[in-house]
Amino acid sequence: MLVSQILNECSGAMARKVFVDFDGTIASHDVGNQILQVFGNEEVMRIDQLWINGDISTRERAEAQFAHIDVSEYELKRFVDSFHVEPDFIEFVDWCRSKDVELEILSDGFDFYIDRMLAAVGLTALPRRANSLAFEEDKIILRFPYENDGNRMFGVCKDVYLRSAANCYESIAFIGDSNSDIPAAPIADILFAREGLILARYCKLNEIPVFEFSRFVEVSTVLHAKWFDEGI
Ligand SMILES: [Mg+2]
Repeated sequence: MLVSQILNECSGAMARKVFVDFDGTIASHDVGNQILQVFGNEEVMRIDQLWINGDISTRERAEAQFAHIDVSEYELKRFVDSFHVEPDFIEFVDWCRSKDVELEILSDGFDFYIDRMLAAVGLTALPRRANSLAFEEDKIILRFPYENDGNRMFGVCKDVYLRSAANCYESIAFIGDSNSDIPAAPIADILFAREGLILARYCKLNEIPVFEFSRFVEVSTVLHAKWFDEGI
């Protein structure tokens, strides 16, 4: 999809929008990383470091890593079921709906576990952009439907969507925790980072204003004050 097409998606119906990362932010663990840790080997983790260093893209990382991973659909589903969505994320979704705040998940992880974990708590209708992992004839097939939107180092280049939304919304918040959230950090009007983790440390180091949080109720409290009490 071209950026011009993304711009056309802006309805302008809502004044405020929240973008949220999934792994380690909505989900209490980095599920994608846990899959690699448990079903992968040393080579898989070495490839991960190349991505962290910025030497390879999300697609290159995933294609190289899953070449070393042998897991059935049944095993992977059972494994995913051992993780959960943060309990107060559901209340946060309700708060957004009650305030007409649009919410979208931006993940450089995979739909296989995102959709399953959200469905487990009844959140089936949330908009989300993520990479795709599917089993076809017992083989894992990876797809990256959004990689052409950005610089191709990420499957889902989060800053692209924040920039395009900036034209349509009065104010944009972003919530994240780690490396793939860093490009979005300077663009958000209001930024939240999981306490003490990579995104929070990056923002402090680079003097980017950030609210560190551990529970979603802290996020909604800040947003309520900023957006509805101060009248932004
Ligand atoms: Mg994350």
